[in-house]
Amino acid sequence: ILANKTAIVTGSTSGIGLGVARALAAEGANVMLNGFGDAAAIEQIRKDIAATGPGKAAYHPADMSKPAEIADLVARTAATLGSVDVVVNNAGIQHVAPVEDFPVERWDAIIAINLSSSFHTIRAALPLMKKAGWGRIINIASTHGLVASGHKTAYVAAKHGVLGLTKAVAIECANTGVTCNAICPGWVLTPLVQKQIEARAAEQKISVEQARNTLLGEKQPQLQFTTPEQLAALAVFLCSPAAANMQGSQLVSDGGWTAQ
Ligand code: NAD
Repeated sequence: ILANKTAIVTGSTSGIGLGVARALAAEGANVMLNGFGDAAAIEQIRKDIAATGPGKAAYHPADMSKPAEIADLVARTAATLGSVDVVVNNAGIQHVAPVEDFPVERWDAIIAINLSSSFHTIRAALPLMKKAGWGRIINIASTHGLVASGHKTAYVAAKHGVLGLTKAVAIECANTGVTCNAICPGWVLTPLVQKQIEARAAEQKISVEQARNTLLGEKQPQLQFTTPEQLAALAVFLCSPAAANMQGSQLVSDGGWTAQ
């Protein structure tokens, strides 16, 4: 469904973004990868994604906390891959600490990377999508866009902001052929969550496996991690004709977390 279309997936060198990039490539899209990591490992990912479908795969090293680099990511994608039809705003980081101890620098970084970066990609890509008369903006929010947990003030504030941004952009795009929607995952076992599990194991003096089970048990009644593949399938769905009338919506895949 994405032949001759180009997708940017921010933060696609790992986890959910990598899964989404692979699924969009399998649907025929050219993919612009982005994210941090070892250069050789990133080149291997680029080759794998290129081999996944008929489209091309390229990589841009933009730091998603830097607006000028984000503008360059969008411009270079259009210049090298021909267009910008799909933007998946996925790059994200986490920091866990009580609000009174929360490092100011971590607050600023989380707001920049998890929230403001989506504004910057949308601001740069939307004129191209409107001109083409078709576009898909997909923001990876979180259950933490809908409900809160303690010690995650910056992350929860940023993800609530992402859902607000999604709705506001959706209204502006209503009659342009461009849609803007969000996906809200529950716990996904990626490096971002693995760090939290290991911190929990060390803090509570329990095994990593026990920490993983208590983490799931506290929030996610299904006791199964949401997978990058499940979330990637939702992103593909949002690009499909079946989702053409979805505008400003939140697709939740969280094992029951926010049903409670
Ligand atoms: P991850 O750590 O596996 O991947 C994060 C990606 O973002 C990596 O490619 C990393 O290099 C990139 N990144 C980080 N900082 C960057 C920066 N400044 N510039 C460019 N790229 C940067 O994490 P993940 O779990 O796959 O998370 C992806 C998204 O999904 C995030 O927005 C996260 O908040 C969201 N999410 C994750 C979970 C979960 O349980 N893992 C749940 C809900 C939402």
